[in-house]
Amino acid sequence: SKTNTYHSIRPAVPLPPDSAPISVTSYIFSLLDSHPPPPSAAAINDASTRRHIPYPDFVLRIKALAFSLRTKFDLSKGDVAFVLSPNSIHIPVLYLSLMYLGVVVSPSNPSGTKPEILRLIRISKPVIAFATSETAHKIPSLEHGTVLLDSPEFESLTTSAEELELSETDRARVRQSDAAVILYSSGTTGMVKGVVLSHRNWIASLAAAHAVRKKARDSSPAVAMCTVPYFHVYGFRYSLTALAMGETLVFMGGTGRFELGVMLRAIEELRVRHVAASPPVVTMFALDGGGVISDGYDLSSLEVVGCGGAYLTLGVIDKFRKRLPTVQLAQAYGMTESTGRVFGTVGPEECKVAGATGKLMSNCEAKIVDPETGMPQPPAKPGEIWLRGSLIMKGYVGDEEATAAILDREGWLRTGDLGYIDREGFLFYVDRIKELIKYKGYQVAPAELEHQLHSHPDIVDAAVVPYLDERVGQVPVAFVVRKHGSTIDESEIKEFIAKQVASYKKIRRVIFISSIPRNSPGKVLRKDLTKLALSNSISK
Ligand code: AMP
Repeated sequence: SKTNTYHSIRPAVPLPPDSAPISVTSYIFSLLDSHPPPPSAAAINDASTRRHIPYPDFVLRIKALAFSLRTKFDLSKGDVAFVLSPNSIHIPVLYLSLMYLGVVVSPSNPSGTKPEILRLIRISKPVIAFATSETAHKIPSLEHGTVLLDSPEFESLTTSAEELELSETDRARVRQSDAAVILYSSGTTGMVKGVVLSHRNWIASLAAAHAVRKKARDSSPAVAMCTVPYFHVYGFRYSLTALAMGETLVFMGGTGRFELGVMLRAIEELRVRHVAASPPVVTMFALDGGGVISDGYDLSSLEVVGCGGAYLTLGVIDKFRKRLPTVQLAQAYGMTESTGRVFGTVGPEECKVAGATGKLMSNCEAKIVDPETGMPQPPAKPGEIWLRGSLIMKGYVGDEEATAAILDREGWLRTGDLGYIDREGFLFYVDRIKELIKYKGYQVAPAELEHQLHSHPDIVDAAVVPYLDERVGQVPVAFVVRKHGSTIDESEIKEFIAKQVASYKKIRRVIFISSIPRNSPGKVLRKDLTKLALSNSISK
């Protein structure tokens, strides 16, 4: 069109009327009612222990837990519940019952340190937390305390024999425009922020997935394996989607660490058809984990491996296709602020386009904008990816300034990513222009590490930039200006940071420099430092 706005070419998906009071949980229940899975099908299955919950029991547990939370803790619409746990069989039940009540779910990475967790809690202001015996000590005292998910107490909350149905009024209070979830992201710049996603955002995401998945997956309910964490938008969305579809959601279980053997055995024994993966998992598949795959796992049930969250190189794509020629490698692109996937690859034909991250999903719009001039770009010309539609977040909690900086008045979200859309409507990712560093798909915010470096008495100035690493995507590298006369060395600086942050955020290299290059308004010239890091390693 003249305005160079791209509209989804997939069929428009009808959504419930805006004003209909419906939570994402009730929406999932209505989808399950209209396409009931066989009663014997497991809703969720732990690949490590094989503990599973059949669908009818799963729905009962959600309702029982909602009832218990309402009556025992007096939780109600608008309260926030913090969740700190690796993937477990309890998490989807917990998420769905909280959202059934209109309680806002706020999950975070269980590897976070105490000070990191405290920062998140100051942002989202929860009244209660759900954790495990391993993670609970990181949570400060809250109004209703912390409930242990791996305790008999939690188990009894989900199986209470009392009145299971919530009253109409409890459920009817939830509006689609209400906050459903707060996830954490640093967005395009600065420190971590709380991304508010509404019930409407999730309903729109599920409706779009339902439209494409129902066609692709016929009679027997699919078995879908989630190798990504439920606290990240990707795992959150993927798990809700599989459950709304009446599929069996398989997850890694155990410590939450990815293990190739556990995944392969689960694929063979549970006849997994679909896997949600991040680039490091696809890389392990492609490189054959040093020959494990050929060691006789039957992967014939596998149809699709989905991949998103970070850049996947053409080299890995090529190796993957050679190893698993009949499996569709389906890339997607999105971010926390867009409820995850906005561009996605659907079906074998779209998967043939190597390197593409898919086409716009239903009910979404995009623009490619020249970051210098602000002019929308024609097809095939790269620019900043802008997104609009029913998947875009409400905003950052309690931070109007940060919200206004990423979301304009017309509803466009400026992603901070560079890409182009070809004439067929495929998005190709080119580069990241925002500050964000992605380690195995996890966010590392340079501003946070810089803040910590600045707090060191021997450091005068510092800047953190990404450095390419084949195995994990990117690692943070610090440029440091030492105080005159200081002898602080690389390992001392690394150690100083490592004590304060989750291990995926660790600084992997320190380069000493006499001054940090900045432009005249004082912005760090990050691209120059990235180049410098590269030449510095070559000359080493
Ligand atoms: P998050 O909010 O953690 O999901 O991070 C979102 C960011 O991850 C995006 O803005 C991109 O920079 C990056 N990303 C997501 N999907 C892709 C993809 N398919 N290819 C390259 N980068 C991606």
